[in-house]
Amino acid sequence: MAKSVTLQRWSVEDSAELYGIRNWSAGYFDIAPEGDVVIRPFGPNTPVTVSIPDIIKGLRERGLDMPVLLRIENILDSQLSLLHDSFRKARESLGYKGEYRGVFPIKVNQQQQVVEAIARYGQKYHHGLEVGSKPELLAGISLLRDPEACLICNGYKDEEFIDLGLHAVRMGYKCFFVIEMPSELELILERSKTLGVRPLIGVRAKLSSKAGGHWTDSGGERSTFGLTAAQIVDVVDTLKNLDMLDCFKLLHYHLGSQVPNIRDIRAAVMEASRIYAGLVAEGAAMGYLDLGGGLAVDYDGSRTNYVSSRNYNLDEYCSDVLEAVMTILDECGIDHPHIVTESGRATVAYYSVLLFNILDTSSIEYGEASDIPELDHETAEPILNLRDTLKNLTLRNLQESYNDALYYRDEVRQQFLHGKLSLRERTVGERIFWVIIKKIAQEKTKLPQPPKDLSAIDTVLADIYYGNFSVFQSLPDSWAIGQLFPVLPVHRLAESPTRRAILSDITCDSDGRIDRFIAPAGFKDTLELHPLKDGEEYYLGVFLVGAYQETLGDLHNLLGDTNVVSVRIEENGAFEFVREIRGDSVADILAYVEYEPRRILEDLRQVAENAVREKRISPADRFRIMLAFEDGLRGYTYYER
Ligand SMILES: *Cc1c(COP(=O)(O)O)cnc(C)c1O
Repeated sequence: MAKSVTLQRWSVEDSAELYGIRNWSAGYFDIAPEGDVVIRPFGPNTPVTVSIPDIIKGLRERGLDMPVLLRIENILDSQLSLLHDSFRKARESLGYKGEYRGVFPIKVNQQQQVVEAIARYGQKYHHGLEVGSKPELLAGISLLRDPEACLICNGYKDEEFIDLGLHAVRMGYKCFFVIEMPSELELILERSKTLGVRPLIGVRAKLSSKAGGHWTDSGGERSTFGLTAAQIVDVVDTLKNLDMLDCFKLLHYHLGSQVPNIRDIRAAVMEASRIYAGLVAEGAAMGYLDLGGGLAVDYDGSRTNYVSSRNYNLDEYCSDVLEAVMTILDECGIDHPHIVTESGRATVAYYSVLLFNILDTSSIEYGEASDIPELDHETAEPILNLRDTLKNLTLRNLQESYNDALYYRDEVRQQFLHGKLSLRERTVGERIFWVIIKKIAQEKTKLPQPPKDLSAIDTVLADIYYGNFSVFQSLPDSWAIGQLFPVLPVHRLAESPTRRAILSDITCDSDGRIDRFIAPAGFKDTLELHPLKDGEEYYLGVFLVGAYQETLGDLHNLLGDTNVVSVRIEENGAFEFVREIRGDSVADILAYVEYEPRRILEDLRQVAENAVREKRISPADRFRIMLAFEDGLRGYTYYER
């Protein structure tokens, strides 16, 4: 950052650039002049903003502790509107004759209030739901009220699943069975006959097109689900023999989630359109083409085909897929089908933010060159060598000095192990070592292209900021597949962030950390943060966590669900806490793993009573200790101040 070097005042604009907020926020988040992150609930270029620190203040007044998962309901509405508006614009400008029917895949965020909000707000667009299991189907039927909306059943289906879907059809739902495995058809036909309901049948095609990215193994010929072309033709033949081709209405495929490259998306639509045309030619009723999920989120704001980004925007996605369908079907003289997409990630990612406070920091105590004591001729060889390495260090020999420093530091350690160096002598060696490393870190910033080996130094020298959260519970994809999410302080952004840090959570697991952060070109190993101030909380936000993170999380170290708060923001900028779900208590979590809180108290009482008998504590102590235990069981699993 040239700014800090020239000692110009740091401004919020510098923070905006450093954290890339305008690139990844899709207009929903920004930084206010006083340095707070603000929510812009109605999307880009709208005037209403609400400050996240103001919301945190409201949470604290209500006694809700960090960490908190903050949901902004308006953003869900805005994202649904955006999706439908983009498809409407594309249909109008291209003259596309079919309708757009979006569905939300429940697995992306199964929380009742999320699915309910989508079903309710989405009604004006006939937005439906996609389900992959019996529990999801039951949840979907209970929340969906719109007979025009699609209810798409994917996943492996048993008899009970099929019966539930057929009952839904009888009650007026557009409930499609997507055949994922050839054997499902027979069961569907048998149950339909028994229950006297004509099913709505679709097939999932295994495409030969594949997509790049983290999550995209579900596409392509090697995907575990879907039918090959030959198997699809078998379905046609079976239905034709039963005079049921009018029930075959939908073709589905799913390339996988977070497809970063529009070319992959286009190639898949083209292939699917050919199959669709083939099915119409075979006499299937058809009418619906379901493109699955895959619409990506630009987590790092780079607008590239990097895994955490996408090289297209929503308008391009909509017009590209419609155009591809039209190109092929117009050529064959086939009516444009209704287009279904199952966008989950892009619909919900923006609307939740994980907020947590920093509990403490630690940094390496490297000291200054001036702290190094005088060395005399009796000083051990490796320590003298370290001193010479420091003395001779220049911009030209950074890599060599680095290698030497590591070598002599190891020698110091070896000699200590063999009893040749005292503890104090070893410390002198280590101190010189860290002065060298710090100096290399400073010098290397002057090089246009610092040697790759030296990049590890930044991480080693970084501070550790201890955040009051669990990666395993709240950001499982960060831990499991190294997904990047934007992280930044939600206040103090008018101040220069002078520290470089990695984040550690409060689990005792060394994997419970975040040490990769979004950067304009790829990622960076440390995050710029502010020094803590005495008596003042420092809050960070992890953004775009609305998709997949909530229910994949686990109970590592028995840290449970966080508090969840939903806000709704009015046109005049007033906000209301519309829902709050208290996070798990210690007793809740113990019960998940089959402890009985009542029995625990009983056991604790016995331990305390024994202590009374042995005269370690008084009966009055016992009373106070029991109160503390009871409080402890009721308390939050995270760090409480
Ligand atoms: C997971 C899944 C989706 C959601 O994909 P996103 O990329 O999150 O939009 C859609 N359809 C199917 C069949 C899925 O398995």
